[in-house]
Amino acid sequence: MSLFRGLKFLTTVNDLRTLPLDGREVAFAGRSNAGKSSAINTLANHTRLAYVSKTPGRTQHINYFTFGSDELKRLVDLPGYGYAEVPAAVRAHWEGLLGRYLKERDHLIGLVLIMDSRRPLTELDRRMLDWFLPTGKPVHCLLTKSDKLSNQERTNALRSVQKEFANNPQVTVQLFSSLKKQGVEETEKVVGAWFAE
Ligand code: GDP
Repeated sequence: MSLFRGLKFLTTVNDLRTLPLDGREVAFAGRSNAGKSSAINTLANHTRLAYVSKTPGRTQHINYFTFGSDELKRLVDLPGYGYAEVPAAVRAHWEGLLGRYLKERDHLIGLVLIMDSRRPLTELDRRMLDWFLPTGKPVHCLLTKSDKLSNQERTNALRSVQKEFANNPQVTVQLFSSLKKQGVEETEKVVGAWFAE
């Protein structure tokens, strides 16, 4: 079975002190509404594994999934950042938590950064990268909702992000559409290779 098809919900945590103590994980991060839940559901071929179109609440969670029955191989759905409706103090709390997680989490082997292909690399996306890239671990950017772009716009979006990281082999980029289920194999290949190392 392909890697993501076996995804199963494991647990929810609110606090970095209660994260699993063993195994390896890949994290999915992105601005709220970038299409992260839809991408996870599409990769898993499951309609509601990760919850889509949540009301931005005051409490956010880190959701853990396992790739099949092996609890030592996990996908971590990080809280979406950049919710305009959330009070500044709450945003700051969650951004601080994301920063600590990305900088310090030893069990993390790679980051999948979800960005809307129409507006990639926002200030907060860059902040995530600034926290994570110094770890030397790989980042794979999914430029989502690519179905909303013309062929030319898709090529331009992909090239512009690739160009930013032309000198950094740590970062790879692809287009993705949950609506059209495009890009699944490419993501599987990249994330599968991280676990195979
Ligand atoms: P999240 O907040 O990052 O988890 O974003 P969601 O997955 O909830 O998606 C936000 C909105 O974008 C929803 O209305 C989705 O239906 C829509 N959306 C997500 N992915 C795609 C896609 O690939 N194509 C299109 N056209 N819409 C999408």
